[in-house]
This record gives sequence, structure tokens and C-alpha cells, in this order.
Amino acid sequence: MPDPRHLLGLQDLPAATLRDTLARVHACDQHPPAPDTLRGHVVANLFFEDSTRTRTSFSVAAQRLGASVVDLLGGQSSVNKGETLIDTARNVEAMGVSALVVRAKQSGAAALIARHVHTPVINAGDGRHEHPTQGLLDVYTLAKHFNRTDGFDLKGLTVAIVGDIASSRVARSNIAALRTLNAKVVCVGPPGLAPAGLATLGAKVVSHIDEAIKNADAVMMLRIQFERHGEAKAGVGAGGSDLPKQTSIASVREYREFYGLSPERAASLKPEAIIMHPGPINRGIELDAAVADGPRSVIMPQVSHGVTVRMAVLKHAILGD
Ligand code: ASP
Repeated sequence: MPDPRHLLGLQDLPAATLRDTLARVHACDQHPPAPDTLRGHVVANLFFEDSTRTRTSFSVAAQRLGASVVDLLGGQSSVNKGETLIDTARNVEAMGVSALVVRAKQSGAAALIARHVHTPVINAGDGRHEHPTQGLLDVYTLAKHFNRTDGFDLKGLTVAIVGDIASSRVARSNIAALRTLNAKVVCVGPPGLAPAGLATLGAKVVSHIDEAIKNADAVMMLRIQFERHGEAKAGVGAGGSDLPKQTSIASVREYREFYGLSPERAASLKPEAIIMHPGPINRGIELDAAVADGPRSVIMPQVSHGVTVRMAVLKHAILGD
């Protein structure tokens, strides 16, 4: 039986546990916990891979609950000197922290650490595997928008996920949570980035974006994760650069044409449909600025809910309530 204080992923989370977690998020959203809830506790951010939003969001969440935060970042830590993830985590644990928030390039890193420490571990993104707090904030944003916070049943809602799904831990956590909550998930992207095998996760895979988005209640746009293809990052954001071979698309300009959400394409959505993105956005590639900042966009509420989710998750991990 896994230790319920850890949050390692959404793929193996029973429906009741997922709903309880979302109910705790909703409670934090409705009645923010007292600012001294975690006074005296230290939360350690162990980030062995870059992050902007997620690390800041965990830090803000911890501080809003009165905890202190210590950051151990990949480039500055002894992991670069060969100290293993486990050693690093155990050393930080021995200093008396109350929770370890872990981001790493390796899939399964947070679970590995969790097996070797007694402190609660929260996965803040492990390779292409999972990003559970992002999945939670996405389904919470959806549930709140469509008035489903009572019971968190998303039956009848269809979510289209567009882009580099193969590289995306966000997509994996989302597909798991959305399917558990009875939403339909439709995936689309270049064949190498949205493989037919996604059907085994319970998603429908289609080949044309218009087919994916026409009946969607929410469209989740993902960036092409160049760094995970082992390709040069040069050219991201600049039209005409080469894409990884597996995309079967020649340039970002072509990618935008086939898979980007332009204002014209967004105009074909159902009137009540919303647009989501986990960030960082490559504006002008998967999402045009006018759409990202337009009236259907819930990208900023996603960011705000990220703090609420992390407050609820930290509070539960540390205090058990
Ligand atoms: N911020 C998300 C992640 O860490 C999505 C992305 O990087 O594209 O996976």
C-alpha cells in the first residue's frame, strides 16, 4: 500500500482519492487556510531540472501557509558532482524538512526518492512521465469553469489535447485524471508526437486538429518539447527552424499551419469552449497571442489555481488533513 502522504502521479490514483484531493483544493479555494497553518515547517524544492512557474508556485503556496522554503537547484547542487538523487534527498531530509518537492529529468525519479525517505514526496514533474499538480490544477480549472466542483464528475465534457503529447508529462497526468473523472479525451498532433498508442490510456487519437476541436469543451494546447527530443533548442519561437524527425513536419511554420490554434481556428470552437495551456507558451507556434490572451483563455486562472492546488497538497502531505 503506497504511503498516502506522497503525491507521485495521477495514473494509479483511485477515483475516490482523486475526488477527495480535488475537494480539498476546492475547500482551500473557498476558505483559504490560516497563514500560520504550516508555521515551523520547511518545504524543500529539489529541482534537478529547470522550472519557472512550478517552483515559484510551490514556493508561494508554502509561504502562504507560513512554511519556509529552501531551494536546491540542479545547477548549484552536488548532484552535478555525482551525488545521487537519493543521497541528495536523504541529506536534505536529515536536515529536518517536512516535505520534498522533486523535479527531475528521469521518469520515476520522485517515486525512487519516495522509496528511500520517510518525508512526504511531491512529484513536480519527472521526465515525460507525470506532473500531478499540473494535472490537478487543470482538472480543477475545468471543473470550476463548468460548475462540476460538487462531486467532480466531468461526464459529458470533451477535452482535446493538441501537440507534442508523446513528450508531455502534463498530458499523461491529465489523461489519467480526466478519464478517471469520466471526461472524454481526444488527442491530435503529428503522428510521431501523438501516437496511436495513446488509445491505451483511454484517449481517442485523431489525425486532424479540426476533428479534435470541433466538439471540444476545452482545448489544451501543448508546446513542442524540443529539449526532450534531444535536438537543439535554437529556432524555438522563430519560424522556419527544423523540427525533430519524428514529427514528420518540416518546419515550425508548417506545424503552426497544421496544429496551431490561430484566431480563425479558435473561431470554429463551440461558443462555450475554453482554451488551456500549461506554459511556457511558444507564442506564434502552437498558440497565437490573440488566442492566448483572448476571452476564451483560462491560462491565468490555471496559474492561480496552481497555487491553491499546491497549498492543498502541501497541507495534506505535511498535516494529513
Ligand atoms: N511546464 C510543463 C512541464 O513542466 C509543460 C512544458 O514544459 O511544456 O512539463
